[in-house]
Amino acid sequence: MLISLIVPCYNEEESLPIFYNAACEITKTLSDKDFEFIFVNDGSKDKTLSVLKSLAETDERVKYISFSRNFGKEAAMYAGLENSHGDYVAILDADMQDPPSLLPEMVRLLDNDEADIVAARRVTREGEPKIRSFFARMFYRLINKMCEVEIADGARDFRLMKRIVVDAIISLGEKQRFSKGIFAWVGFRTKWLEHLNVERVAGETKWSFWKLFKYAIDGIVSFTIAPMRLATYCGFASAFAAFCYMLYYFIRAIILQIYNDVPGYPSLLCFILFIGGLILMALGILGEYIGRIFIEVKRRPIYITAETNNDKK
Ligand code: UDP
Ligand code: MG
Repeated sequence: MLISLIVPCYNEEESLPIFYNAACEITKTLSDKDFEFIFVNDGSKDKTLSVLKSLAETDERVKYISFSRNFGKEAAMYAGLENSHGDYVAILDADMQDPPSLLPEMVRLLDNDEADIVAARRVTREGEPKIRSFFARMFYRLINKMCEVEIADGARDFRLMKRIVVDAIISLGEKQRFSKGIFAWVGFRTKWLEHLNVERVAGETKWSFWKLFKYAIDGIVSFTIAPMRLATYCGFASAFAAFCYMLYYFIRAIILQIYNDVPGYPSLLCFILFIGGLILMALGILGEYIGRIFIEVKRRPIYITAETNNDKK
């Protein structure tokens, strides 16, 4: 039985040797299984590629796929899945935040047929900036309210999957991928392994606040049309409010004969600003979806390989 380990790498020259050694130790304990490493170099600007090449020279289980530029972790994971041959496939970060020591337990659970996917989930967010944890938690609460599929808070991309699950994931051909949603959407029996947060061993995180914000928007818009509906509701609400306001002035003027002594400048301004804001919001939401359609209809590949030692499937 072959197990593929997929590792997306972006500027990970320092973490890679540590990761590789730790993973090798684990593969030794699972001596009845064969392994292949699929390292995806996501357009790193440091020496990641040469580190990978030297690993590949000494260990024939090491395959690398090197992108022509940085396409993002989602693309890197997709490339790994597409090029994997294993009966079981795992996705791990190169920075040891996905502890390879969980692998034997994951393999055991799949072997016993207790699940089709064993996924890791961190129960603490220690060591992470407080503000990031706060927004992350808000994001999961929001997305789970709006979407049909449940996306677990603290769920990582770290998971071991059976071939049938991998094939299902690859069959979803969308170009803008939000894996956490895709994993949930394809279904299958999932078992969660909980672990404490681990800080990365070397290098630094590639996420900035802005990148995470875009990721959150991507996640929401690619899995639900609830925001569009929200815009519609807001439109209705503001139209109704305007109607009531009109009625109020109408009754005041015609029936009660009370007239404004100053022209209704403040109320008018409020209304214009309010409605203007709503229209802009609705347009923005529409724009998000139309932009997505635009990118999908171009049907561009998810990634472009510059070099690899992996035989094409
Ligand atoms: N990564 C990648 N492409 C990117 C950003 C990150 O392949 O554009 C990889 C990175 O090398 C690491 C994993 O994705 O193996 C997770 O990245 P990071 O540790 O920066 O994210 P965090 O753990 O902070 O969420
Ligand atoms: Mg990390």
